Amino acid sequence: MNIIKPLVTIVGSSNVDFVIKTKKLPQKGETVTDGIFFKAYGGKGANQAVAAKRAGAQVNFITKLGNDIFGEEYLRYFKKTGIRKDGIITDNSFPTGMAFIVVDSKGGNQIAVSPGSNTRLAPSEVRKKKVLISEARIMLVQLEIPVETVIEALTIAKGEGVLTILNPAPVKKLPAKVFSLIDIITPNEVEAASLTGVKITDVKSAEKAGRKLLSLGAGTAIITLGKKGAVLISSCQEDFDKGNNPHLPPFSKGRNSSSPPLKKGDSGGFSKMGKIRKLHIKGIKVKAIDSTAAGDAFNGVLACALAEGKNLKEAVKFANCAGALAVTKIGAQSSLPMRREIETLLKKGSRKFKVLS
Ligand code: ADP
Repeated sequence: MNIIKPLVTIVGSSNVDFVIKTKKLPQKGETVTDGIFFKAYGGKGANQAVAAKRAGAQVNFITKLGNDIFGEEYLRYFKKTGIRKDGIITDNSFPTGMAFIVVDSKGGNQIAVSPGSNTRLAPSEVRKKKVLISEARIMLVQLEIPVETVIEALTIAKGEGVLTILNPAPVKKLPAKVFSLIDIITPNEVEAASLTGVKITDVKSAEKAGRKLLSLGAGTAIITLGKKGAVLISSCQEDFDKGNNPHLPPFSKGRNSSSPPLKKGDSGGFSKMGKIRKLHIKGIKVKAIDSTAAGDAFNGVLACALAEGKNLKEAVKFANCAGALAVTKIGAQSSLPMRREIETLLKKGSRKFKVLS
């Protein structure tokens, strides 16, 4: 059987991480000389693109690299990873985004970032790549690129009937109009608190923050809670726990190649049904070693799962397994799981899921 892989488009950042592991972090003015160096590929956009790819999606990635050796290396790496290159743009005046990271033996770190070419991904450039968004089932974006560019990407996707996910990381103040462009928002506890003013201490307060995000205009909020899993709050009843066919559009107006063309003024995404439903998906007990990129694994895999037709509930369970697996390994992209690992953990961990209502 010829399985069609779902197409996800991610718009976001790419950084090269230069990491030095030392016994202890240098203090102000101090030099430590026992470091061991390695280079890694990162940036939230790129991490999420790789996570979606490893989970089984086809991935378009709209990002901007510098016209330098690091940009060239990253491009070769994307090719090797199987990420489509059509969305990758080169900036001739700014260097590739870079992060300089010192990690000590206890896992503490110091990080300085030069966002470089990521800051130059302009709304007009995303507009030129519109076709890469309109052909996808899901568009996922984060906040490591300019907010105007994020808004443009969300606007294009909504206009084309493509379901939108905003992972609001790193958190920034967002204009009020953004929320109505978001089908699913996926903050962690800190980000959700910053966007809503609700301090998150447990599942109940996460639920409260989720409701606030819905009242701001988002269709669904998924608040990730680290080892406590995730809370899903949604007004999109129809798509909450129905449907699970990888060859059918899971959304009332979501587009795929067999969908009729959208009428003018029609926007895609989940239908909002009014009644708010909620679900706590408990964290899976794993031996956590390094929490780097747990959120990126969660988001990339969530996008893949929804694009292939899983309903909201099943997609969050799938993403929850990916987040748990990511914390069992060191690093960002090196810790992102393959689909078979996610499926295995899902089978083992299924008894942990608890439905609240
Ligand atoms: P971020 O990395 O953005 O801060 P979280 O820490 O909330 O996000 O983690 C994202 C997801 O990864 C969680 O919702 C959960 O599914 C999973 N996860 C994170 N930490 C753990 C952990 N210690 N044990 C099990 N799962 C985890």
